[in-house]
Amino acid sequence: MCVFDSIDYGDFFNMGEYSRLGINTEKRRIKIFDTTLRDGEQSPGVYFNKNTKTNIALKLYDLGVDMIEAGFPAVSDEEFETIKGLNNIIDNVCSLSRCNINDINKVIDSNSNTIHLFIATSDIHMEYKLKMTREEVSKRIIDSIDYAKDHGLKVIFSPEDATRTDINFLREIISGINNKVETINIPDTIGIMNPISMYYFIKKIREFTKNNISVHCHNDFGLATANTLSGLIAGADEVQVTVNGIGERSGNAALEEVVSSVYGFLNSYTGIKMEKLYEISKYISSESNITPQKNKAIIGENAFAHEAGIHVQGIINNSRTYEAINPELFNIKRKIVIGKHSGKAAIKYILENNGINKTDDEINDILNKIKMYNKSINEDFLLEVSKNE
Ligand code: MN
Repeated sequence: MCVFDSIDYGDFFNMGEYSRLGINTEKRRIKIFDTTLRDGEQSPGVYFNKNTKTNIALKLYDLGVDMIEAGFPAVSDEEFETIKGLNNIIDNVCSLSRCNINDINKVIDSNSNTIHLFIATSDIHMEYKLKMTREEVSKRIIDSIDYAKDHGLKVIFSPEDATRTDINFLREIISGINNKVETINIPDTIGIMNPISMYYFIKKIREFTKNNISVHCHNDFGLATANTLSGLIAGADEVQVTVNGIGERSGNAALEEVVSSVYGFLNSYTGIKMEKLYEISKYISSESNITPQKNKAIIGENAFAHEAGIHVQGIINNSRTYEAINPELFNIKRKIVIGKHSGKAAIKYILENNGINKTDDEINDILNKIKMYNKSINEDFLLEVSKNE
């Protein structure tokens, strides 16, 4: 474990008496498996070349993630070479592989020490995609895991589309591999779970295995982070996430949201250096060409911006009045924004910070002019200033 594991970020969270209602808040270390370079790169329109992938992997390493899924060596020679290069410099890299010898050999040849094997186990995937029976899939899983292990690899196994897989079949598979794998990952491949169903589902899976359980949630209903958190509450040990939540379709659970929730709701911790989160988020935005929506939690442009007069007044007096998390945790500056909903306090605050003293009447006058100007241009004229304590 790294030294940052012991940092207590609790002071940065302004949770309430009921925030953790019903949650077992026994402190534990949650493992972070980052798949920005694999599922994240599967976002439509995203392409990371060798250089970019290597840079991102090094930043993720620096950020403190436990495992970096660098990619899928079988997809291209460039991907293979990139992963091989990474395996020479960092030791917590893993690679994705289908359950076939060719894919597994690529992972072995790339010098990875961990393989993420997957095969679909839901009836719909087996019938229409794999065209395999349950018996064939079961045999393929065992053969692939045995082959990978015979070549010295540690194995993470994912029954793809687990959340639409018959629970008895899932139990049979997991029971058969329990003593062979390091981690059983439960993917909600098409994002069809909700926080309640995910909780009961992972509780059930916990009955089948004492292994490390991880969850991999997609955001098709906007519930990826919530479902991931539910998985943890139900007893999962690890989460698969991406920076900014990039990934297939509506994306994956966002690393920054999940890690913050681990502190805020579970009273638990990770190896992530929170002060580096925003920096890597900006880097991923620029390299992926996907700018997070302005109102996205934590890393969105407006996540720590305050406009309404009453709110600004509160923030100026004590930032805990209107912030769930202190943005300084992420090295983000909170913003006070002047617009249609502004009040005198914000104007006064900005002027005073610039060494300008005005009377109340003068401040009122300035505020009225700003509001009239907003009306004339028919939009919010935003003036931003940073406020740090
Ligand atoms: Mn996925």
